[in-house]
Amino acid sequence: MTPPAIQFKGVSKRYGALVAVDTATWALPRSQMLVLLGPSGCGKSTTLRLIAGLENPDIGSILLNGREVAGESVWVTPEQRRVGLVFQDYALFPHLSVIDNVTFGLRGLASRERQARAAAMLDLVGLADLGDRMPHQLSGGQQQRVALARAIAPQPEILLLDEPFSNLDAALRAQVRAEIRAILKQTGITSVFVTHDQEEALSLGDVVAVMLDGEVVQIADPQTLYTRPVNRRVASFVGEANFVSGTATSTTVETALGRLPLVTAASGPVSVLIRPEALHIVPADAPANQAAVVAARVQWREFYGHDQRVGVALESDPGVLLTARVPTTHIYSDGEPVSVQVGGAVIAFADSTAQARISDRA
Ligand code: ADP
Repeated sequence: MTPPAIQFKGVSKRYGALVAVDTATWALPRSQMLVLLGPSGCGKSTTLRLIAGLENPDIGSILLNGREVAGESVWVTPEQRRVGLVFQDYALFPHLSVIDNVTFGLRGLASRERQARAAAMLDLVGLADLGDRMPHQLSGGQQQRVALARAIAPQPEILLLDEPFSNLDAALRAQVRAEIRAILKQTGITSVFVTHDQEEALSLGDVVAVMLDGEVVQIADPQTLYTRPVNRRVASFVGEANFVSGTATSTTVETALGRLPLVTAASGPVSVLIRPEALHIVPADAPANQAAVVAARVQWREFYGHDQRVGVALESDPGVLLTARVPTTHIYSDGEPVSVQVGGAVIAFADSTAQARISDRA
């Protein structure tokens, strides 16, 4: 069986008293893109540095493609790990042309081979015609693609990207992100990508690892992470989350929004996760076409063009404030009476203030 491209076995890294990476255990199959997602300071860059060999774990071991590279009595130097790096500031050499920037990392090869490899890399990133330009003559997105070409020219087995798009504006960022994902998929390189942006993580990763306070709290494909978060913290970090309290009885839960079907059976007092797009609202005077609607009143609204976020308070309990993400076919106004309904099954978490039992609790 093919070993994982990257495997962490109980890896911890401290800086003094601070635990930057806490007993991390996870594995990534080959040719997959892993996104490390977490707030600033949660240990994402330290994880990359451990993979690259720029840091040594205090305990635990790291295997790359089945070979132990860091462990109790094992240390493989960064140069011998076949790991490439792309940083957020591109770090292109300003006095070297684009093609010379790419050949720079290929010093071990014969000149003709270097030129051919660099040209092939520029072709791969769509910059075949710009080899003679200087870095300052390129856009931010083009510079980032040169940095990618330079990092993959030496044919690394694993590519590490540390917030590589943070210097790009929002529109360019989405475009370069899609391009880089396509290039990495084409080459089959295993990659690890660091971001604190949940939308970027969900749209880019084959696998997303949520890191909080040095711990990998959940590692899963983007859809599972979003629809089946292991706890409230992950639910809140990966997208927007409403929570309402409820009492679960097997496959349903009784809440202020009615009796809702549960994704996973639970019993007792729980917190119920309702994503804003699962909260359907309609004007109160619209013909009711479904059962189980609850009266509410609009508190605030934010218009985004493609959709709008609407804050509502329940009439039965104005303390229950919820956010809905709905189409712009009707523009809501403050104080407007509406009907609210939850679409689909919901997830319940054990209420921290009560003893609840949830069958697949983390
Ligand atoms: P992230 O990339 O998620 O922002 P880092 O991995 O850079 O987080 O840092 C994790 C924690 O370790 C932070 O609290 C940071 O301040 C600390 N840290 C990182 N590098 C060092 C270092 N060389 N010396 C001391 N503390 C460090």
